[in-house]
Amino acid sequence: MTITPLMPVYPRCGVRPVRGEHCHLIDEDGTRYLDFASGIAVNLLGHSHEGLISAIQEQANTLMHVSNLYGSPQGEKLAQMLVDATFADTVFFTNSGAEAVETAIKAVRAYHQSHGNDHKHEIITFSNAFHGRTMATISASNQTKMHHGFMPLLEGFKYAEFDDLESAKALIGPNTAGFLVEPIQGEGGIRPASDAFLQGLRALADEHDLMLALDEVQCGVARTGTLYAYEQYGIEPDILATAKGIGGGFPLGACLATEKGARGMTFGTHGSTYGGNPLAMAAGTAVMKAVANDEFLASVKDKGERLRTRLEQFIGNYPDLFELVRGKGLMLGIKMKVESRPFFLHLRENHDLLLVAAGDNTLRLLPPLVIGDAEIEEFFAKLSAGAADYIVPEAA
Ligand SMILES: *Cc1c(COP(=O)(O)O)cnc(C)c1O
Repeated sequence: MTITPLMPVYPRCGVRPVRGEHCHLIDEDGTRYLDFASGIAVNLLGHSHEGLISAIQEQANTLMHVSNLYGSPQGEKLAQMLVDATFADTVFFTNSGAEAVETAIKAVRAYHQSHGNDHKHEIITFSNAFHGRTMATISASNQTKMHHGFMPLLEGFKYAEFDDLESAKALIGPNTAGFLVEPIQGEGGIRPASDAFLQGLRALADEHDLMLALDEVQCGVARTGTLYAYEQYGIEPDILATAKGIGGGFPLGACLATEKGARGMTFGTHGSTYGGNPLAMAAGTAVMKAVANDEFLASVKDKGERLRTRLEQFIGNYPDLFELVRGKGLMLGIKMKVESRPFFLHLRENHDLLLVAAGDNTLRLLPPLVIGDAEIEEFFAKLSAGAADYIVPEAA
């Protein structure tokens, strides 16, 4: 037998964390890493946030799970917080981002099909999107590397060019049900949509009675300096998928919708055994209490601007390595002129700095939102040292 007990779908690296302390991870052999990956935009309160830990502990002591057969005071509370803080009128809780996007896809189709328009099923999505790893969510992306071995895909997705309104418009036809788009592509390389693009999609959706569904699984939950990124575009979606940061490390996602966006989601149309269980609700409520206020959001914006300004100065010292900095708030990307992956490995292996690799030769910076000046200084010390002693590998 050569297969590992953990199904070998991840090329896991040698870092084997066993403990977290605020913005650092400590691995099996005691190495201390600065964590600017946050479990891929998940641990937005860092690794040892007292409010989150005690909320989970208390709820675990009281009641962990009952199923959705029963009333949910815990779910009503968190759903109300999300409704009060966003465009949404209603919330469906899931356990992951892919399930939140799946719910969004079903809601887009059901909006039409629950009212007799059974032919409306096509969803226009965008090049280099990432929406998750289920059959529907890989089908929603044009990235063929995720498709190999899993054919046939789910029908009904059409791929337009990201940030190109004309290409989206050209795909609208009699069967179109809506758009699904990341306001800021994460895995695709921290690529923010332009204002004109998202505003244009909103206008097209209104004009053709289509649903505008946003995937804010990565860019949502205060990451960009507003609770959700759409707020910075001057538009509101009909449907929005959120996850990653919303549980702060506890598996939780949600599909938010307006009353109109959820009109097809009636009794019996959708469900989840774990979704929204009391333990997850305690985690989500603790996260919302910490982040959904002006003071916290302003601090994210401020730290994001400082980090970005310094990054822009820094990359000027290495014009052969770095091309540009992009992103919003504390969701930042450094696009490299050379292959980014070896540099990302160099920072991890030689400077104990954890980032996330992304498409388009981009390094993803997704620090915990609770970083302070000390972590920003430490980050620049590691990055500077890493750039200074980096030897670009010769092309194979
Ligand atoms: C991570 C991610 C997902 C999938 O979330 P999972 O929790 O891994 O299922 C979907 N959309 C975007 C934009 C993501 O970044």
